[in-house]
Amino acid sequence: MSAGLPQHIDVRRFAELERRLEGEISPQDCPRLSQAIKASEGPILVALDFEKQSGGRSVVSGNIHGRVVLDCQRCLEPVSIDLQCDVSLGIVDSETEAELLPDDLDPLIAGDEIDLRELIEDELLLALPIVPVHDQCDPPAALSGEGHDAELPERENPFAVLASLKKDTRPSGDEDEFE
Ligand SMILES: [Zn+2]
Repeated sequence: MSAGLPQHIDVRRFAELERRLEGEISPQDCPRLSQAIKASEGPILVALDFEKQSGGRSVVSGNIHGRVVLDCQRCLEPVSIDLQCDVSLGIVDSETEAELLPDDLDPLIAGDEIDLRELIEDELLLALPIVPVHDQCDPPAALSGEGHDAELPERENPFAVLASLKKDTRPSGDEDEFE
């Protein structure tokens, strides 16, 4: 585990002690994340606060931030994506308890210890865009055009073409009752 971050932590104990964890972790240490991305840009920065709320519930809040490279799904070129995860977790023992959490807390079902790296990785994976694209992306088809003059001519309405054909084949002198 990288700078300042333990790998396994007792979340409830951390909450009781109101600990703050700050540090960074290398994306290479996150095998599932590494698989899901093309490359990473710099370390993942982590800042997490543990606290015990007045009702006795242990919570983890903070931020996980990393920058990764994915394939743009429009142009297929690499696109750099900022992953910002706002963490707001309520620590619970079970699914049943998880359902009782208020809406602003996501459940973290935990035993005595959790693997901090797993937690960080889960949050980052959730923050990955389903369809990564550049903010302003010109697909290759548009790039291969010859500037603004290469705009496609407006397509003729096929029905208009049909109508003009009809008109041409119509014997001249006929009453124009179709117009
Ligand atoms: Zn793109």
